[in-house]
Order: sequence, then structure tokens, then C-alpha cells
Amino acid sequence: MGSENEHIVLLPFMAHGHLIPFLALARQIHQSTGFKITIANTPLNIQYLHNTISCNNPNSSEKFKINLVELPFCSSDHGLPPNTENTENLSFDLIINFFASSQSLKTPLYNLLMGIKEKEGKPPICIITDIFFGWAVDVAKSAGTTNVAFSTGGAYGTLAYISLWLNLPHRKTNSDEFTLPGFPERCHFHITQLHNYLRMADGTDDWSKFMQPQISQSLESYGMFCNTAEEIEPGALQWLRNYTKLPVWAIGPLLPQSYLKKSSSSAPSGSSIYNQHSGKKPGVNPEEIIEWLDLRDPGSVLYISFGSQNTISSSQMMALAIGLEASAKSFIWVIRPPIGFDLRGEFRSEWLPEGFEERIKEIKQGLLVRNWAPQLEILSHKSTGAFLSHCGWNSVIESLSQGVPVIGWPMAAEQAYNSKMLVEEMGVAVELTRGVQSTIVGQEVKNVIEMVMDKAGKGQEMKEKAEKIGRQIRGSMIEDGEDRGSSLKGLDDFVRSILLRRQDQSV
Ligand code: UDP
Repeated sequence: MGSENEHIVLLPFMAHGHLIPFLALARQIHQSTGFKITIANTPLNIQYLHNTISCNNPNSSEKFKINLVELPFCSSDHGLPPNTENTENLSFDLIINFFASSQSLKTPLYNLLMGIKEKEGKPPICIITDIFFGWAVDVAKSAGTTNVAFSTGGAYGTLAYISLWLNLPHRKTNSDEFTLPGFPERCHFHITQLHNYLRMADGTDDWSKFMQPQISQSLESYGMFCNTAEEIEPGALQWLRNYTKLPVWAIGPLLPQSYLKKSSSSAPSGSSIYNQHSGKKPGVNPEEIIEWLDLRDPGSVLYISFGSQNTISSSQMMALAIGLEASAKSFIWVIRPPIGFDLRGEFRSEWLPEGFEERIKEIKQGLLVRNWAPQLEILSHKSTGAFLSHCGWNSVIESLSQGVPVIGWPMAAEQAYNSKMLVEEMGVAVELTRGVQSTIVGQEVKNVIEMVMDKAGKGQEMKEKAEKIGRQIRGSMIEDGEDRGSSLKGLDDFVRSILLRRQDQSV
């Protein structure tokens, strides 16, 4: 489909959880249209994407088909430490400064688009930019093209995030519960589901001052992509379309093909997904992890990970360890030093109950994996029975795509709404706690783990629902001759629409 001499430029937000879905979307568009693709970003992130593409396909020429372009990033105007190009380890003030600094990409992006126009005789057919980059709408216009926003989140979480920023203050009464424009009356949100910066936001603080205009400008885009599927979020997609009045194309889950074909009973062989996703070194050799899983019973292992950047507090770490040990369930825990310590620093046994590591090793109850594990490989393994997750959207769709129910422990961004959606709309999760300041005790952890991993009752019910959703979500990306899944059809619809727009403009 499409016209091979068209060009699309993509600009992701500078964080791992955004770069990877943008790269996957770029691939998907290139495969189905043959369009030229350029991904633009700051030098460090371009290097990271370059490594990811090379690690993924060492012998492939794919890297030459997607142009990676470095844009200079001027963070110093906004008080950021020099060379900061990702959000790891930054405080809230620094994070919002980091967001705001993205505006220094305006001129370099404009110059890139004008350069393409000069060389190819026409501007790119559109640019696809992160939903946080509302400023890109005007840049696209002045370069003679149009902006399409990409929310790397799901429909429910995206709508919650948009509506929260556009409807400050959230609480109109003294109650801790509130409803949100765009959602049905039955959806009640709670003040504890708001991250600190959102709880304080009143329109005059730095977060509101950046986010409100960016989000509302972003809604002036030509349309929006969402990394979800029609089948799994039919309600939320409709609410999002109604609220934003935009075409919203569900084009997910943006996952490697090998994980979309499986029957959810065995891991795709020979794929080192950790390379594809990060280039980060796993804490234990991936083969050893898979061998360890091979020796466990089906559905018997709890996988624990809080995403690419998060960690928990030392008292929470202690409670988690106590609960895990008491549950006697097998587990793999991707573990990082707790809050207050250097995330990449040395690991110290005093953050855990005395002798914990030795005991679980001796009785082979669990694996502690430092920093990074091959998550999709673990989730797709038949021995994995549940996922204790911070509910970052990539983790959510990875878990759902493999039919694995979730124990939610949301921390930031739109994670609390993802968790709420998994619990209330899908019935595939229970929430253990929220944030890094909550107090939890080992007994609560034990109870929730036992309930979710139970092969009867609520645990079994959740498992069955998760497996059904897994089949649906994988089906949305199926390509079998004429038979194309709903997300591929969503992408086809976008391509038709954008080509028509080009035609109309040239008449
Ligand atoms: N991830 C991984 N191994 C880890 C931790 C994270 O492969 O040990 C990957 C995970 O598979 C997912 C991404 O990192 O693709 C995390 O994205 P998510 O949106 O879940 O959370 P974020 O890191 O953006 O908070």
C-alpha cells in the first residue's frame, strides 16, 4: 500500500519507554508502506536507537532503511545538568525542566523538515511526535506538513492523563474521590492515584505551565496513535475519540513479531529480547534465567519488575522480601538499590532481611536479577504465572500479550490509571499498593501473591481473562493474506487518510 516516495519523520520523547514503541511504529509503517522513515532525537538517544537496531539485527540492512538523525539538545537554558538526555534519577523539578527543554528541539526539527523539503521537492507527508510535544503542531504547519500525535500509552491511561491536565483542579469538593470529564460517571478516581506533581497542580506551577498548553496543542494534531488494540480497550478508545474529537488509530501492541504468534504456552526460542529493548546488560545471563524457568511448574513463577527506571523504598523492599519468602512461591525479582541510593550502585544485603538471598538461593525459591532482565522472554515462558508490575504501559501490554495477570504497584505518570483499568475494566489485576511512600507489610504481600497465583478462585478467574485478552491482543496484529488484524487495519486507515490529505493539498 502507499507511495514509496513519501517520507515520515518521527520524534519520540527522550525516554526508553517511548523510544522503543516509536521505533516499533516506524518499522511497522515502513513494512506496510515502503515510506522513507526518519527518526530524529538527541545525540545520546540516537546512539541508543542505533545500538538497539544493530543488536536486534546484526546482519540486517534494516539500519540503513530507517534514517537516524541527531538534533542538538539545548538543556542548559532550562537549568538541567549538562548531558542529561534521559529521565533516570531526576527529581520532579529536573524532570519538568527536562520536558520543557524539549522545546529547544523546535528549530532543529524545523530545519530538518525544510532540508527534506528542499532535497525531495516536498515536505514529509506528516511528522509523528510524542503527545508531550504539542509545540510540534506549529513546527509541522510552518514546514508545510502536519503533525500526528503518538501516545505510547493505552487509551484509558492517555485519556486520564489528558483530562487531568485539562481540567484542573481535579477535586471540586472535599472528597478524596472525583470523576473526570471524558469518563463515564461510574469511573471514580482517587487523590492517591495522582502523582505528587499532579496533586499539587493548580495551573500556576511549572508542571501545569508546560503540560496544559502542550496537551491542548497536541489535540490540534491531524490524529492520534495509541499503542493499544480495539478489542482490548473498546470503551476507552471510544471515550478518547469522543473527548479529543480526533481520529484515534489503535495500532498496538507494538511488540516483536515472535511474541505475537505464540500460543502463550511457550517462549519463542533463541530471541534475546533484552538486546532489542535496551542494549542494557541483564543482571544474570538470560540463558540461565530461562533454564531456571524451564525447571519450574507451569504458571508457578511470579515475575517482579518496576520498569526501566523505578525502584522502591528500603522499607517496601523489606516487606516485599518478607512476603515473598512467606508465600513460598517461586519468583524472579529484578532488583535495584532502593530510593536514596545510586540506582546503578553496588547492591547491599542490608536492604533485605538477613540471610534472605542465601536462603532463597539454597532452596531455589527465587532468582534476584540485578537491574535488568529479559522481560518479554520471562513473561512468555510457560512457567510464569503472574507479574508484579509498576504498570508502565509497555509492561502492561507485554504481560497481556502473553496472557499473564498482574499485581499492580503503580508509581508515576499514568501507571495508576493503567492499574485501575486492569482491575476495573479488564478484571485481570489486583492492586497491591501505590507509590514509593506507602507502608506495606509482608503479610499483605503474601496474601495478594497467594490469591493471584491460586489455581482456583479469583486467581484462576484472572488467569482465564488474561489468556482471553492475550489471544485478542495478538490477533489484532495478525497478518494472514487478506486477513489483517484490527491494529494493522488501523494503520492502513491512517495511511489512506494521510495520502488523501496529500492528494487534496496538491490539487
Ligand atoms: N524492561 C526489561 N527488563 C527490565 C525492565 C524493563 O526488558 O528489567 C523493559 C520492559 O520489557 C518494557 C520497558 O522496559 O518494555 C519498560 O517500559 P514500561 O512502559 O513498562 O515502563 P517505564 O520503564 O517506561 O516506566
